[in-house]
Amino acid sequence: MATIFTKIINGEIPCHKIAENDSHIAFLDINPIAEGHTLVVPKKEIDYVFDLPDELLGETMLFSKKVAAGLDKALNPIRTGVIVEGLEVPHAHIHLVPIYKESQEVSLKRKVDVSEDRMSELATLISKAVEI
Ligand code: AMP
Repeated sequence: MATIFTKIINGEIPCHKIAENDSHIAFLDINPIAEGHTLVVPKKEIDYVFDLPDELLGETMLFSKKVAAGLDKALNPIRTGVIVEGLEVPHAHIHLVPIYKESQEVSLKRKVDVSEDRMSELATLISKAVEI
């Protein structure tokens, strides 16, 4: 069965899209742990990130780097952090988490409330700042 991320890639489920090319997509995490929390997903459906072929893993990191540059430009955090866990959705992905202050808890257990309007606003802001 297709993963929820494949359904997003295929346009069957909506997302707040940040960027896309032939092999990758980035969109806002639906349960953000910080404003602008973004997921980078290779379109090829592989569960474990370290099972990605070397070339694709490299491309995933380079795509993430470009998205992180857009997050840094649009939202001006101290920096953008990276989490890879993959325990919930069996489709490899990188969490990019803007860190706005040193005391910010950077954990997937943290959740922040971001309204739908703000999610849309963030997606517009960030996507304009990302150069793929
Ligand atoms: P994990 O697999 O533990 O790395 O986490 C999966 C992440 O995917 C969680 O942070 C979820 O909030 C996020 N997520 C699940 N479904 C969606 C969706 N439909 N749109 C955006 N993010 C999602």
